[in-house]
This record gives sequence, structure tokens and C-alpha cells, in this order.
Amino acid sequence: MFREKCIVEDNRKVAPGHWVMRLGSRAISKNARPGQFVQILCADTCDPLLPRPFSFLTADSKSFSVLYQVIGKGTHLLSLLKKGEALSITGPFGNGFLSTAGDRPSTFALVGGGVGIPPLFHLAQGLLRQKKIKASQVQVFLGARHKALLLCEKEFKKLGVKLSVATNDGSKGKKGFVTEILEDFLRSADISRTGIYTCGPSPMLKTVCALCEKYGVEGEVSVEEPMACGFGACLGCAIKVKKTGGHRFAIACTEGPVFSAKEILWD
Ligand SMILES: Cc1cc2nc3c(=O)[nH]c(=O)nc-3n(C[C@H](O)[C@H](O)[C@H](O)COP(=O)(O)OP(=O)(O)OC[C@H]3O[C@@H](n4cnc5c(N)ncnc54)[C@H](O)[C@@H]3O)c2cc1C
Repeated sequence: MFREKCIVEDNRKVAPGHWVMRLGSRAISKNARPGQFVQILCADTCDPLLPRPFSFLTADSKSFSVLYQVIGKGTHLLSLLKKGEALSITGPFGNGFLSTAGDRPSTFALVGGGVGIPPLFHLAQGLLRQKKIKASQVQVFLGARHKALLLCEKEFKKLGVKLSVATNDGSKGKKGFVTEILEDFLRSADISRTGIYTCGPSPMLKTVCALCEKYGVEGEVSVEEPMACGFGACLGCAIKVKKTGGHRFAIACTEGPVFSAKEILWD
């Protein structure tokens, strides 16, 4: 884990209320794996006191980017930053996708909603850059309330992956939830060697886990529990997971944020 003063190289609005910021970095970017996250101190003052967690959207040897939604004070301050300004950032944190050893699937089904989409883009880009798989082996499902909020659609198209979208109001793709187009796929395709990778709002993740169980597919789920410290000290991001004969609480920032779909207890 590294702490760096990162210089803002670009910070632009990409959708209503959503921004992408690219930051220069020597150490964090080189060590970033898809599904990991950084803790960004959004101000030099003590307000807000705690850093805010964000997944990597992209990372290369000299810079990384995050895609963030402005929802409160910290993200509002981020949106005001101009090229050349500096931020204190720590990371990378967490385990990331594909952290466990084992057989890799032949089809990667990526299911994202809202600001859960950025780490999935990083995953798809990473797999394709490493030439571990072909674009045709990546099937992406994106969901949003309205077409203007469909994040990273163009970027996924540029990767050449298979893409399906759903919007709640039917303004693009299928009208409904992203989990419905995922289920259409699971029902109709050969899913014997498919792995599901997902990040997004908790109700979506809960449904994806239920679909993994129903169709007997392995899944990796990245949870975005509100968290304070990012290194397991405050225990604020505990989630309930299965344990032989019962349950226990796992700390999402250190044991996750990626968990097996079989592990999480949603009730
Ligand atoms: C591992 C991880 C990765 C994340 N990656 C991204 C990302 O790539 N892009 C992105 O936009 N956001 C991401 N988030 C969420 C992001 O950290 C919060 O939106 C951010 O901390 C809000 O800060 P703020 O100061 O603007 O809002 P605050 O003033 O802290 O909060 C405003 C409101 O939002 C609620 N809130 C804060 N955090 C969350 C959360 N995680 N889930 C639900 N409600 C929340 C608060 O309770 C409050 O009601 C991630 C969170 C985690 C844990």
C-alpha cells in the first residue's frame, strides 16, 4: 500500500452528476488490480475528515482514473478540482477480482449497475490487455435508471466485448433491471464455463447472487459498503458471510471488497 500526492491530470463530467478524474501516480497505479480501490482525502482541511473509497476505472504505469458520482461533500469537492491540483491518496486496498487460484472461466459475464461499473471496465480492459482472453469471451451487462446514466457504454464498445444494456425507464436497451437481461443470458447460453463478476447497488448484487445459485454459476461480487478507514481498524464495513454452522462478520475493506457469491448472507 502506498500514500502519494497525486496530481490531477484531467477531471471531467461524463454523465449527469458523474465525473472521471485521472491522476498522476508513480506507485499506486502500477500496483492496481481490478476490483481494488483507493482512499482519497477530498480536502486539505479536516472537513471531510475521513478519506473516501473509489474503485479504479483504469490504471497504467503513470496514472489511474476513478469514475465518481457526486453525492455528498467529499465528491462535490472532487468535482471542483482542476488540472494541476494535488490530492493525498492511499492504496491500492482490498483483494480485487480473480484473487483466488483456480480455473478461470471461458466466458466472463460482467454485471454492473451505476458506480459499480468502473471496476468491471478495469477488469475487462485488464484481461484483454494481458491477452488472457478474446473480447468475444466477455459478455457485459450494464444497467441504469435512464440512458444518460449508462456509464462506460462507449468504452466497453471500444473494447469490442459483447454488450447488453437495460434501463429502468426503457430509454435504452431492455426496459427493466440489468438482472433480467442477465437471466435471459443464463437461460439461453451455454454457461458451463461462465463466471459472473459484479458490482453495483446491494439489491442488484443480492439478485445476482440468487441467479448464481439458481443456475449453478460461480460469481465474484464486489460490495461497496460505506467504509471509513479502509484498512480494517474501524470495522464499519462489516458484512454477514457464511461460516460452517452459522455466520460471521467479514470486514469488506480488508477481506473484500470482492467476495464469492456463495459466501454473502443478504438477510
Ligand atoms: C470499495 C468501494 C468502492 C467505491 N467505488 C466507487 C466508485 O468507483 N465511484 C463512486 O462514485 N463511488 C464509489 N464508492 C462510493 C463512494 O465511496 C461514496 O459515494 C463516497 O464516499 C461519498 O462521499 P461524499 O463525501 O461525497 O458523501 P457523504 O457525505 O459521505 O455521503 C452522502 C450520502 O451518501 C451515503 N453514502 C456514502 N457512501 C456510500 C456508499 N458506499 N453506499 C451507499 N451510500 C453511501 C451517506 O450515508 C450519505 O447519506 C465506493 C465505495 C466503496 C466502499
